Amino acid sequence: MLGKLLRWLRMLGHNVKYAGALSDNKLLKIAKIEHRILLTRDLELYQQAIAKGIKAAYIEGADEAEKLAKLAKRYGFPLEINLKISRCPKCNARIRPIEKEAVKGKVPESTYRYYDEFWECPKCGQIYWQGAHWKRISETLEKAKKLLEEG
Ligand SMILES: [Zn+2]
Repeated sequence: MLGKLLRWLRMLGHNVKYAGALSDNKLLKIAKIEHRILLTRDLELYQQAIAKGIKAAYIEGADEAEKLAKLAKRYGFPLEINLKISRCPKCNARIRPIEKEAVKGKVPESTYRYYDEFWECPKCGQIYWQGAHWKRISETLEKAKKLLEEG
């Protein structure tokens, strides 16, 4: 349910585990054992976590910008993507820069011609570059920052 937010948080460098199909009890257990903050839109689950002394955030907000602004306010993290600490939105591993030559044939020809900087996920092999979608990413973060400033 929070898949989109999860990808955003990973891009921002946070270590976020996806626990889609797990039971509430299992979720609570993992959050406790691994010292994670449970992010949920399920009020009942949120209350259970709090009652058990597990850190949890009840996620509210109409869109990703709003959700990110609320989380950034609460936990005090910057709403900037720093590719040195970014994690793969797909699998949570930390991405790393990769030589342009190494992505030849792995990305569309036009992308290869146009871009010089690439990143690779060492776990799932996904290759990233600051393509056209980067503008939308920046816009969402700008919106989130504005919301944060407005309180
Ligand atoms: Zn990956």
